[in-house]
Amino acid sequence: MRLEEITAEDPRAAFWRDDGTPVATPCLAAVIEPRDASTLIAALHAALPSERGGVEHLKRIRRGADGLRLVLATAAAFDGAADTDGYRALASAHPALRRDALARVDAPGAAPITRAHFDVGSRLWPLARPPAARDDSPTRGDVAATAAARLADADADAAALRTLRDAPPPGAPKCASGGAALYEPGGAAAVAAAADELRRRAADGDGAARSHPLLHAPMLCVEARARAARAARGRGAAPGSAYLCTGLDMVLTAEPCAMCAMALVHSRIRFVVYRDADDRCGALGSTHKVHALASINHRYRCWRVDDA
Ligand SMILES: [Zn+2]
Repeated sequence: MRLEEITAEDPRAAFWRDDGTPVATPCLAAVIEPRDASTLIAALHAALPSERGGVEHLKRIRRGADGLRLVLATAAAFDGAADTDGYRALASAHPALRRDALARVDAPGAAPITRAHFDVGSRLWPLARPPAARDDSPTRGDVAATAAARLADADADAAALRTLRDAPPPGAPKCASGGAALYEPGGAAAVAAAADELRRRAADGDGAARSHPLLHAPMLCVEARARAARAARGRGAAPGSAYLCTGLDMVLTAEPCAMCAMALVHSRIRFVVYRDADDRCGALGSTHKVHALASINHRYRCWRVDDA
């Protein structure tokens, strides 16, 4: 059995040096009076949003020796971003925001990848937010120690699922009919499995579950977890994490599609292991790497198992 971690080239890396300092990127900023700050920030958000100016990773304002500085855009993005009726109206109403009144300032060119980047980069210009946390506690050895047994569970789950549900339509993602099982860290027994959830839905009289187009195996596992959390709350248990799969691991026979991969972001899964790649729909390596997107606020790790 071979394990390959699916990682992404991080486009932010080019903006941070090996010693952790930011590559300074020239930006244009206005010097403003503190009493005008809230009015100008609101007007600027409407007329020249920070993402248009390439400064969405920065706080808008920094306090300097000569007052407050309000960043509008990177120098590279300014001309294109400012070539709008909205900006022209803004600059005519607020002379401090006119092109010829702006000062050049240096700021980090991209969002931080590490907490150290956030701390060091914010000294050059305050960064909007620290990087999304990723749980680096699972090691390759931890994953390897549990992968074979868990994958056997997922295969058994896929076989059970096939007997319970209608055949997925041609072209459906592989995760629609694959097996899925959810584990506590280091746990040997699954806390949720797709086929179990489908059985429960059928027992509740939900006939549509057999062929529902959104009920892919990973979604069924997340739903099983939601059902267990509701039942625990009903018994008066203290509310746990605000997210359904915090700290849990999922093992899949097939690479999840974009819907399932993103559901695992939202539910805060710790890591995912899968075996069969899905060249057409797979979103953890084949067509996208949803688990490692720089722009989302949770990331998880992912390994592909080759058991040939
Ligand atoms: Zn799916």
